[in-house]
Amino acid sequence: MRLVLLGPPGAGKGTHAQVLSKEFGVAHVSTGDMLREALKAATPLGLKAKATMEKGLLVPDDVVIALVRERLSGPDAKKGFILDGFPRTPEQARSLDATLRDLDMPLSLVLYFKTSLPVIIRRLSGRRVCGACGKNYHLLNFKPKAEGICDACGGKLVQRPDDREETIENRLKVYEAETTPLIDYYQKLKLLTQVSGDLEVRELNRDLLDVFRRKGLLGPGVKDPQRA
Ligand code: AMP
Repeated sequence: MRLVLLGPPGAGKGTHAQVLSKEFGVAHVSTGDMLREALKAATPLGLKAKATMEKGLLVPDDVVIALVRERLSGPDAKKGFILDGFPRTPEQARSLDATLRDLDMPLSLVLYFKTSLPVIIRRLSGRRVCGACGKNYHLLNFKPKAEGICDACGGKLVQRPDDREETIENRLKVYEAETTPLIDYYQKLKLLTQVSGDLEVRELNRDLLDVFRRKGLLGPGVKDPQRA
């Protein structure tokens, strides 16, 4: 299973990538997570990307392309992968095609999470993340057991700097301008399937498994989590 999850910020790509990668035992490749880790570790890459990320703009194509190429060439991507937040520009999509051709690992499917604006705003403005382990929560829909504290590791929950209202607007503009052309790009390659990013996690997970079943992606070697 080799997937790309496409959709605006707040569509639920990260949440579903996490769930699916566990269900199917494939690598979750999130460029946003990789960049945030680099930032936390204060590597030269992280320090360079910090201001761009905080403004809700895209880091340069060559930087993320190199990150993804390295990750997909590694051993854990051999069993399959879910790309979350990459590609985000036509240049990134073309370079992904070339990388996957070199590695002889063609994409199975691109899932486009079509999501309405009020849902996006609600999700992003209420999102809180653990500063220590990165687990996601929501002020209304997915509260931790103790307010402000991560259930998983006890870390403090914070708001991502780019989830502030003024930055959300930028991220959505960038998405419209840079990323929406990819819908057409993957449609032409007959790889795109649209799902509703407005659905709650469990409902959308059920729809995604239906898509995989219909597309024959749950063949031998990939067990159906609902029947396991
Ligand atoms: P995300 O967690 O996917 O919302 O990404 C957070 C931020 O990381 C984005 O707003 C960008 O600044 C940067 N970023 C993540 N993925 C990419 C990408 N594929 N291309 C450029 N910048 C990215």
